[in-house]
Amino acid sequence: MAEHCGPNEFAVREISVHAQGSFAAFLRKIEDAIGRLTSFFERTRYDYTRFNYIGEWHSHPSFVPEPSSRDDASMRKIVADPEVGAHFVVLLIVKLDAAADLVATAHTYLPNGEKHRAVVKLG
Ligand SMILES: [Zn+2]
Repeated sequence: MAEHCGPNEFAVREISVHAQGSFAAFLRKIEDAIGRLTSFFERTRYDYTRFNYIGEWHSHPSFVPEPSSRDDASMRKIVADPEVGAHFVVLLIVKLDAAADLVATAHTYLPNGEKHRAVVKLG
């Protein structure tokens, strides 16, 4: 969940961690997402234009933090889902490099099938 901070700029304000932590968990049930969104919306006083669902995240512990073809397919399914109703969704992928520093990529998926790399600012 993120805050819209400026033109094309969003700050992640809340993340949820799936209990199983497996790739299967990434393909979460829509009901789970709705439940998480409801409590986030309550805390942000239903200011949907400023605070909203932005997308999904997971780690690639042992390979590059770039979306796999399965990741692409999952995100395209989410952005096309009328129950989600998103104009775009972002996939954040993180990993720890050899020096144990966090590295991350983010990609934005649009309902028309386009995918664009985003700039990630950590910290
Ligand atoms: Zn992945």
